[in-house]
Amino acid sequence: MESSFVNMVEPGDDVIVMRNGVFGGRMVENVQRSGGRAIVIDDEWGAPCDPHKLRETLQRHPSVRTVGFVHAETSTGAESDAKTLTSIAHEFGALVICDAVTSLAGVPLLVDDWAIDAVYSGSQKCLSCVPGLSPVSYSDAVIDRVKARKDKAQVQSWFMDLNLVLDYWGETARTYHHTAPINSLFALHESLVMLQEEGLEQAWSRHRLHHEAFKAGIEAMGLEFLVNPANRLPQMNAVKVPASFAPGVEAQLRKRLLADYSMEIGAGLGPLAGKIWRFGLMGQSCSRANVMSCLGALTCELPEFGVQVKMGDAEQAALDVYNRAAHQHA
Ligand SMILES: *Cc1c(COP(=O)(O)O)cnc(C)c1O
Repeated sequence: MESSFVNMVEPGDDVIVMRNGVFGGRMVENVQRSGGRAIVIDDEWGAPCDPHKLRETLQRHPSVRTVGFVHAETSTGAESDAKTLTSIAHEFGALVICDAVTSLAGVPLLVDDWAIDAVYSGSQKCLSCVPGLSPVSYSDAVIDRVKARKDKAQVQSWFMDLNLVLDYWGETARTYHHTAPINSLFALHESLVMLQEEGLEQAWSRHRLHHEAFKAGIEAMGLEFLVNPANRLPQMNAVKVPASFAPGVEAQLRKRLLADYSMEIGAGLGPLAGKIWRFGLMGQSCSRANVMSCLGALTCELPEFGVQVKMGDAEQAALDVYNRAAHQHA
C-alpha cells in the first residue's frame, strides 16, 4: 500500500479513496502522508464501494489522477467490484490502486483482464505463507508516471522509491538497492507452487465450498451474516453477534474459543466493534476440518451465552452442503 501511494501520489495531488472499512481508512492516511489531498467516498461498513458514487465524484473533480479502493475489505467481509471501479477510473484518465491483500487466491482477481494499474497483496492471507512480504504489480502507466515525477528522486521514502528499485529489478544491469529477504522469498515461492499444484480456479472454488458449508451451519444456529450474499467474501465471514448479547460479552466467547479450542476468531473493528465476529477461512485454513470443528465449538459454547442451539443441527447443515457438492462432482 505504502509503495503504491508514495510513488504514484505527488504533493498537491487530488486522490479519491473509497472507504468502506479499516483498510480504506489506512489508504487515506497514506494519501495524506504522501502530501496528497484525499477526497473520500464513504460507504457503509459491510457494503461494497459504490461505483455510481465514484463516477459522480470523478465528474465533480476532474483533477483526480488516482483512485484507491480495497477489493476485499477484511474488516467487514465485503467484496467490491474491482473490474467496474477500475474501468470507471480509466474513463476519467485516473489510475487505480487496488488492495488485494485478502482477495488474492481466495476470489477471482484478474489483474490484466481488468487492467488494474497498481495492485498489492500479502503473503499471509489466502497464500498461507509466512508474513512479511507484499507482492505488488504495476502497469506500464504506473511506471511511466513514476519516471515522469516532477520532483524526480523525491519520492519521500528512499526504501520504496521505484525510480531506484526499478534499477534493482532491471533485467540487464541490476544495481544494488537493498538486500532481498531471500528466506521469505523462498517461502513465498513454495506457497505459489502449492497454489499452482492445486490450481488457482480450484482454490477459488474450495474457498466458495467451505464458505457455503460454514454459512449453512451458522444459519442453522439462527445466526446471520453482515454482508448481503452478492458481495460476501467466502474467505472472510462476518457474522452478527446476536442482539441478546450484553455489551462486552461477545469477547468472552472469543476468549473461550481461543483458550479451549485454539481457535482465534476476529473481533469487529471500528463501528462494528462488538457487533460482529470475523471467521477467516483463508488459504490452508479453509478446510472441511476447520469448518466442522468451528461449528462444533460454537454448538458447545453458544448455549452458555443464551443462544439455544440443537446439538448436531449446524454440523448436519454443513454436511448436507458437502454431500451435495460431492454428488455433483461424482
Ligand atoms: C491484512 C490486510 C492489510 C495489511 O496487511 P499487513 O501485512 O498486516 O500490513 C491491508 N489490507 C487488507 C485488505 C488486509 O486484509
